[in-house]
Amino acid sequence: MSADGVGASDGEGASDGSDRPVRVAITGATGRMGGELRELSADRDDVAIVLAVARSGADIDDEIEDAADLPSLLAERDPDVLVDFTGPESSVEYVAACAEAGVPVVVGTTGFSEEQEAALEDASQSVALLKAANFSRGIAGLRRAVREAVSALPGYDIEVTETHHNGKRDAPSGTANTVLDDIEAERETTGRVHGREGDQPRETGEIGVHARRAGDVTGEHEVLLAGNHEVLSLTHRAGSRGVFAAGALDAAVWLAGREVGRYDFSDVIGGSHER
Ligand code: NAD
Repeated sequence: MSADGVGASDGEGASDGSDRPVRVAITGATGRMGGELRELSADRDDVAIVLAVARSGADIDDEIEDAADLPSLLAERDPDVLVDFTGPESSVEYVAACAEAGVPVVVGTTGFSEEQEAALEDASQSVALLKAANFSRGIAGLRRAVREAVSALPGYDIEVTETHHNGKRDAPSGTANTVLDDIEAERETTGRVHGREGDQPRETGEIGVHARRAGDVTGEHEVLLAGNHEVLSLTHRAGSRGVFAAGALDAAVWLAGREVGRYDFSDVIGGSHER
């Protein structure tokens, strides 16, 4: 169980049934999420970081190695699983290295293009790959609640708003896109409208999407459904990045030793299969 009790896995140690910690490699080790993963794993006895890499030029120190050497480092350290929170371009490259080395990979990176998504799908033909835009259990709950609300309230206007820290690159967030996909799976819409300016009245059937970037907000997502003189607001706020790091490490423990294929965080925490 993790130190703060957030998102701990129900089983400890490797999925081969032994009690040894799962040997984890991480990329983007100098990033915000990389730092969280390193800190949190030191408090858990079901995982051990055996390799931490960052791109050349980042603060490579005694504990962090150059990501350019990832293929040979994977062969040398033989991790059970790799966890990636970097950028889309590097993520695709690291996943390819994992596929080549036969190392299952957990992808937390967001902002992939269609072409990059296709490359990940290809890689999942030869390695176990688990990708999720959000490793929080609260967001998994939000997604279920949103699907339920959308189907219960046909015709209500829907607006999705997300807020993140000022260092976030992709917009809207990967989580907002996943929630939008969920809404569109539940209801036929006329499309997403990103922000509004000038003479732009709301059209029936559209979904408004708003991305705010400010300060050090870890992550907030709100789905607003309004109609019939009432408003339903479903909101999730992440209190710290530790929530995502704990979920990603739970996913790593779950994925180690799994068969080749594509998995999602819902496979780890139970519930229907979602991507
Ligand atoms: P960050 O900018 O703090 O860290 C990114 C790390 O990746 C850094 O170490 C950086 O050097 C490295 N990196 C970035 N681009 C690279 C490239 N082209 N080549 C090699 N290395 C590269 O970002 P962060 O806040 O840690 O977030 C990283 C990613 O994880 C983002 O895509 C973010 O949206 C996503 N994220 C996902 C979740 C989730 O639950 N799935 C939670 C938080 C963040």
